[in-house]
Amino acid sequence: MYKAMVIRLFPLKVQVGLLWQNAGTARWVWNWGLQVQRDSYAESKRLLSVYELKRKFTELRNSEGFKWLKEVSRQVEANALIDLNMAYRNFLRRLKAGKTGGMPKFKAKGKCTPSFCTRSGKVKADEHNRIYLEKIGWVRFKAKCNLEGLKFYNARVKFECGRWLLKCAVEVQPEKPGMTLRSVNMGIDVGVKSLAVVSCGGRKRVFRNINRNHRMKRLTRQLKHHQRILSRKEKGSENYLKEKYRVQDIYGRIRRKRHEYVRQTAREIVSMRPQAIVMEDLNIQGMMKNSHIARAVAEQNLHLLRRLIELKASEAGIRVVFAGRFFPSSKKCSGCGHVRKELKLSERIFRCPECGKVIDRDFNAALNLERLAE
Ligand SMILES: [Zn+2]
Repeated sequence: MYKAMVIRLFPLKVQVGLLWQNAGTARWVWNWGLQVQRDSYAESKRLLSVYELKRKFTELRNSEGFKWLKEVSRQVEANALIDLNMAYRNFLRRLKAGKTGGMPKFKAKGKCTPSFCTRSGKVKADEHNRIYLEKIGWVRFKAKCNLEGLKFYNARVKFECGRWLLKCAVEVQPEKPGMTLRSVNMGIDVGVKSLAVVSCGGRKRVFRNINRNHRMKRLTRQLKHHQRILSRKEKGSENYLKEKYRVQDIYGRIRRKRHEYVRQTAREIVSMRPQAIVMEDLNIQGMMKNSHIARAVAEQNLHLLRRLIELKASEAGIRVVFAGRFFPSSKKCSGCGHVRKELKLSERIFRCPECGKVIDRDFNAALNLERLAE
């Protein structure tokens, strides 16, 4: 089983210079290859294959005046051309499908994520929390698990939100499912006010919306503040870049917090060990069209939550059921089954006109969903 991994690197000052050199060269090679392809297409209406492109590049690399290309690993440069080839293939596939856009573009300094693809076969970690990258050397890193002795695949170094990251895949042993499930069902109502309201065997559990807590609000305020400063800086200047990386850093902190919270929620939901989980077949794209809640939906990562629950549940042997898009989970009374004709989004309390039941709106929906599993 392969697992995607993000490893934070803590390079020395010298190594930072080398990382920038690698990223810069990869960008230069991409742009060079793009120009060659555009010329080729203008001349003969055909694109070069990746082999032809590589051969042309090797000629250039060996020629006088381009000695600096040899300071970076050949693999980094070849991978930039492979990336370009992939970008063209995706673009052509889109064209065939009648879609527009996606044409490979020149990468401008400061406008793209600095990144390069290193030689995965040479990447290795030692027992001193250092990782080896070709032509860069041993770099200190921080990761959540022991990497020593692992094989790395598709290793890519990126500079994101002010940090150097190594993104790669590693091969791991699949965990053995050792969970015994309880004979209860679970309904999950995901939403905007709370991230998820869960009914597990009729018991309520609420996962709050993390974006509404004090810390996140403070970070969001900081982000806005620095975005304003950034907008006043002269584009392309040294100070502009500095401020831009600061904005990216804050944004990254917010994003990581949100993602971690969603992961933790999915973990906790599955650890309640129900035999079946029912969720709404959310029309997230439809919800995104409603500008009032689109932002909240995007910020909550509802897509990710749903995917993670589905994934973790199936790993644990839990059955996952999706309620149809037209199942009235919110409008139905969980007490008597009466379906109300109208329910405004602002009505946080569900009141049943038939049996008089008064219940929290989201918990009512979760209860209805839970019963669908039977
Ligand atoms: Zn009722």
